[in-house]
Amino acid sequence: MERTLIIFKPDAVQRGLVGKILARFEERGLQIAGMKMEQLNDDMLQEHYAHLRDKPFFAKLTRFMKSVPVVLAVLEGVEAVDIARKMCGVTNSREALPGTIRGDYGMSVQSNVIHASDSKETAKKEVARFFAAKELFHYERADFHTVYAEDERNK
Ligand code: UDP
Ligand code: MG
Repeated sequence: MERTLIIFKPDAVQRGLVGKILARFEERGLQIAGMKMEQLNDDMLQEHYAHLRDKPFFAKLTRFMKSVPVVLAVLEGVEAVDIARKMCGVTNSREALPGTIRGDYGMSVQSNVIHASDSKETAKKEVARFFAAKELFHYERADFHTVYAEDERNK
């Protein structure tokens, strides 16, 4: 089982889309391992978006990300990182394919509805950055044996 970090960005919170988008992940079969609301600050964002620190849009991006509290979720499942990333769609919402979250709900590059970890390594770091061990839960969802075939359950 893999875990991945999803952030419901300020635009998702402001537009009341958190529940709808979370439902898409849950219905796909990804289960919630942890979830909370938090007001991000500059220190957290400097770390989370370290790869973008030199970009001209960095200051605008951090201002946006701390404009209202965001909802953070850790989702768990077989190949969860790749699945969530594919469901998310490409960075520019205007180019994201219909059927993806950004492609269905977004019109913006910056305000692109959710963040999803981009690799297994990043996911591990991001989950640990935002969640303490005691905030994460592993349990067997009631539909686990139906969602996965027998040989897929230990992956
Ligand atoms: N972003 C932006 N302008 C850009 C590129 C990215 O405002 O030209 C923002 C956007 O919100 C994006 C975030 O920075 O989701 C992180 O960028 P990254 O390249 O990691 O894209 P992602 O992995 O979120 O698709
Ligand atoms: Mg990224």
